[in-house]
Amino acid sequence: MKYFNYPQKNLCHFFLFLAAWFLHLLSTGCGILEEVHSSGKDEALQVLATTTHLADLAIQIGGNQIEVHALMNPGVDPHSYRASAQDIRRLHQADLILYHGLSLEGKMAQVLEGARHRGKNIFSPCVGLPTEKLIFAGGNKASIDPHLWFSPDLWLDCARALTYRLSQALPEQGDTFRKNFLSFESSVKEMDQWGRSILKAVPLEKRILITSHDAFQYFGKHFQVQVVGLQGINTMLEAGLADRTNLVNFIKRHKSPALFVESSVNPKALKEIAKESGAVIGGTLFSDA
Ligand SMILES: [Zn+2]
Repeated sequence: MKYFNYPQKNLCHFFLFLAAWFLHLLSTGCGILEEVHSSGKDEALQVLATTTHLADLAIQIGGNQIEVHALMNPGVDPHSYRASAQDIRRLHQADLILYHGLSLEGKMAQVLEGARHRGKNIFSPCVGLPTEKLIFAGGNKASIDPHLWFSPDLWLDCARALTYRLSQALPEQGDTFRKNFLSFESSVKEMDQWGRSILKAVPLEKRILITSHDAFQYFGKHFQVQVVGLQGINTMLEAGLADRTNLVNFIKRHKSPALFVESSVNPKALKEIAKESGAVIGGTLFSDA
């Protein structure tokens, strides 16, 4: 623990706060952890979101005017999630399907495409973002990093797109959705400023975040943190022996005191790397769920 000095403690606290903040957003008075947000109205627009983040966003913008369900439960890895027969029935019954896209729900692409072909109202608030704002893994234009909810700016862009789409679906509620968006925008900006002020105490060369998979590049770009993931941007790509050895060497070289496991990824490999490198597990981050 020699290198676990004050600024790095701050950094650990920051990452743990990030996880807590995300959980807070997911559970803000809305019962999303029970998978459902009910407006209490019989005729409410039924919205089915693939991931917990999208369900949360829909709740933040839709408020009491819509009824939101999440297809995936908390802790579920969206990269590897396969839709069950029951999921397909739920997709069929929804008035509006929200999906992330950008290959996040990689195993659900056919099911979502099928829903679109059947004429379902299906929308991604993320796929229309300008490509210059996106991150491409390894500079490969075919490999878009989908984890953009970790950029406060980009997630607000998604919220704006969702506000527009919900206002189209329920024009009489447009003013309420826009008001909800402004409130969400203000909470995100407040968090953003808080994050920047905490990180000021951490020298740039010490801003290193090591996690299970490469989900935090947008976060790193926004807050100037170097991000290192054992696996790539998709958890379906297994880390090889060379990846593990490289990470152990990186940790030793940078004297990194802590690694962070993720709630939706098996922590086994990272725990082994922590043991081998002498680092500790700093906590669990909510990356993809
Ligand atoms: Zn991911």
